[in-house]
Amino acid sequence: MEGITHALSAAVLSQLVPLDWHTGAAVCMVAGSVLPDADGLPLWPEHYLRVHRGMTHSLVTSPVVALIPAAGLFVLGRLDLLGHAGAGMRLGPLFLASLAGVWLHLLLDWINSYGTQLLWPLSRRRYALDLNVIVDPFISLPLIAGLVGILARPGWRRWIALGCAFLLLVHLTACALLRRRATARLARLGQTVRVFPYKGTLAAMFRWDSWVALAGRGNEQKVYRLVGGRMEDLGMRPQPPDGPDWPPDGLREAFLDWSRAPACSMHKDEDGSVRLRFEDVRFMRADGDATLLVSRIRGGRLLETRFSFGGPSLRSHV
Ligand SMILES: [Zn+2]
Repeated sequence: MEGITHALSAAVLSQLVPLDWHTGAAVCMVAGSVLPDADGLPLWPEHYLRVHRGMTHSLVTSPVVALIPAAGLFVLGRLDLLGHAGAGMRLGPLFLASLAGVWLHLLLDWINSYGTQLLWPLSRRRYALDLNVIVDPFISLPLIAGLVGILARPGWRRWIALGCAFLLLVHLTACALLRRRATARLARLGQTVRVFPYKGTLAAMFRWDSWVALAGRGNEQKVYRLVGGRMEDLGMRPQPPDGPDWPPDGLREAFLDWSRAPACSMHKDEDGSVRLRFEDVRFMRADGDATLLVSRIRGGRLLETRFSFGGPSLRSHV
């Protein structure tokens, strides 16, 4: 999920915790819920592909991440820099609140299709429930309404938070059931299938029954789009072929390591260079142009590699 939804989720759902926490604890829970995404700063393309949703998104390292806001706030309180608000702060409750925020972040990221390395550094496997994408209005909008309600009616805050939690649960259950139905439908065609949420248009963002699927085995991959019960065959998208003669390219390797649904096409340009065009069907757009990485090779030499995350502007690498 994106940062605002993480902060909203912690601000609203923290009201359900039956402990009479110090106000600092609520601040720590919100800080803990946004801190893991500090690894997503687009410093350079390889950084984004290799680092995002790894080190700071792991259950193993979560206590270390949680300690940062808790210790920071505790020290500020001890130095008397928070005035009245800092009086009586204890590190234990601050840490537990921050840890709850980090775990809430991991839970929300695990739900979507991006893939989160929940067991880093023990494993680099990317876990994903594939129920939604990074931005999900069915999660963000109830949380915004919940926060407004809590601010307007503080006395009802627990009931409002409970209502929000219920709505989120209904949404995710509906997504899970519809995803199962889409998977079963393709499996009936005798296909090995992987189904991902499809949000390639604004309208699709507001649909529960909108999926894109890779079906088939090995290099024989077909792409389907299923929206509102209608199934569209988008043709073959072969997986990246083995290229033992390709020159080494750190960005290409990072992309293939990151992508959960890679596809590749190869073109010969007029100047004799070979253009490898990689995409990831999870982030396919309505016009089918989901290019994420383009490499140009000539005479065994890598001329350039360009990367973009689902957008038209490709950032040059070589
Ligand atoms: Zn995250």
